[in-house]
Amino acid sequence: MMMTTTIQVKTRARSDAIDITSMVRDAVKSSGLKDGICVVYVPHTTAGITINEGADPAVMQDILEALDRMVPWHGSYKHMEGNSPAHIKSTLVGASVTIIVQDERLMLGTWQKIFFCEFDGPRTRRAVISCTSTA
Ligand code: ZN
Repeated sequence: MMMTTTIQVKTRARSDAIDITSMVRDAVKSSGLKDGICVVYVPHTTAGITINEGADPAVMQDILEALDRMVPWHGSYKHMEGNSPAHIKSTLVGASVTIIVQDERLMLGTWQKIFFCEFDGPRTRRAVISCTSTA
């Protein structure tokens, strides 16, 4: 069994982190998946996805600011479109996460949330959620 659905994510700034955990949880519930894996995939070249602490919003702010320091917006980049830092951050963060689903529940840790990461916003983006049964 495999169920795939696409969600929309509206980002609010050039760099942004949006907690999409509840949307992923809803998608898993709708899929009817009991035991298996949930892949959340971002089909964009200047965005990414990660799992990290959601209890203190300062954590994701710190991560976005650290990425800004590592890959400054202004620099000697070759890509003509002018958004190379966004492409580089997208590759650093990655395009997908995999979460184990057990007994209809995402096996996230107590403090973990799933964050859509924007690096060239604000824009309306997409994330693809695929639920596969392993039972
Ligand atoms: Zn580009």
